[in-house]
Amino acid sequence: MAGNVTISASRGELLHRLAGGICQKLGAPASSPGRELAFQILGALVIGFGVGVFNFVVEHSMYAICKGLENRKIIRRICPSIAVDFALHYRTGSFLGVSLSYVPVGFFLTRYRAGFLNRIGFHFDPLGMLIFQWAFMFLHDWWFFTVHYMMHKYKAIYMRFHYMHHKSGGDLSVFSTGFMEWADLLATISFFHGFVMTWLYWQRPMWNAAALLWYFACENAANMVGHCGYDLPHWLTTALSLGSLGTPWSQNAQIHYVHHLDPRYNKSLYFTWWDQLVGSHRSTHRLMERDRARYDAKGDLIEVEPRAEVKSS
Ligand SMILES: [Zn+2]
Ligand SMILES: [Zn+2]
Repeated sequence: MAGNVTISASRGELLHRLAGGICQKLGAPASSPGRELAFQILGALVIGFGVGVFNFVVEHSMYAICKGLENRKIIRRICPSIAVDFALHYRTGSFLGVSLSYVPVGFFLTRYRAGFLNRIGFHFDPLGMLIFQWAFMFLHDWWFFTVHYMMHKYKAIYMRFHYMHHKSGGDLSVFSTGFMEWADLLATISFFHGFVMTWLYWQRPMWNAAALLWYFACENAANMVGHCGYDLPHWLTTALSLGSLGTPWSQNAQIHYVHHLDPRYNKSLYFTWWDQLVGSHRSTHRLMERDRARYDAKGDLIEVEPRAEVKSS
């Protein structure tokens, strides 16, 4: 049955005392106005890089799952002919991009920590959690599509903020999920999560941390599945995305792969309806079709072109 845990107001006071202790160690006066700011900056960095570390671990877990399934010939790459580079710079680029983009959100959370901590609850409410998840995924999909569409429409913005994410083309892996400019990630994802937190801040008498964690997990999983680069059957797409890509209107790894092969198409994140509406939806690409003809479902090469006949003289 549902459980409810409330963290008392004293948790916020504890953080204040902790800030005071840090400043005392640094020799700053107890009433220094800079003390609070220093604590907020520290909190922002801890939260930002904490999200980065968490994302790093989840990316590696998702990579291990997909690689394991590929090795067992259960799934294959969408375009096996395109070599995949798992170079360290993709992983570090993803880690830094995610971490830095969540620093502003971390600053906001630290700045208003008392309000958040005083009203936090952890309530296992399946229906409420699902409503929360789908409502914000719907809103975020619209926000992402709008910002992403603008980034592709204006070349100067594309080159400055979004080109990094497209540099690899079809060389796509789960580590490409966060491999982008931190400002790109901030505009498309972290800013929206800050908006969600703002909405929660005003919830009375308390906000539900369980719903927030479930929503973040679903979005993160959906994003990683979208970038995994594997031809996943629908049941596996649904399972790996915690159900969030299981609807008939959902994106999948193949659809986002098309966006990386040809950025004119498939600019939305979770659902396909915005692209359908503006006519930029494509379910396949000629390179995907070419590889479908060349490779079987296990990723083994099929000899499709007849050998050139050796003419005997
Ligand atoms: Zn992408
Ligand atoms: Zn794009």
